Amino acid sequence: MISTTAPPDVPPAHPDVSIVRLHGEACYWCGAVHSTLTPAGSVTTPAGATGVRIWFIVACPQHRSRRLQ
Ligand SMILES: [Zn+2]
Repeated sequence: MISTTAPPDVPPAHPDVSIVRLHGEACYWCGAVHSTLTPAGSVTTPAGATGVRIWFIVACPQHRSRRLQ
């Protein structure tokens, strides 16, 4: 999903975060893939000159309570 403006409640992703974490295939915080992953909100990354891309991230049980926002 590509949007031209960032919703004010969606924080930017860490610049060094792994792409698999942005794709929701691993815990956004620790990278766990063999846990029960649950939706944990969304983050944005720059896309083009002025746009942003919104990613829906997931969290493992240990980080489930560490939602963004
Ligand atoms: Zn985790």
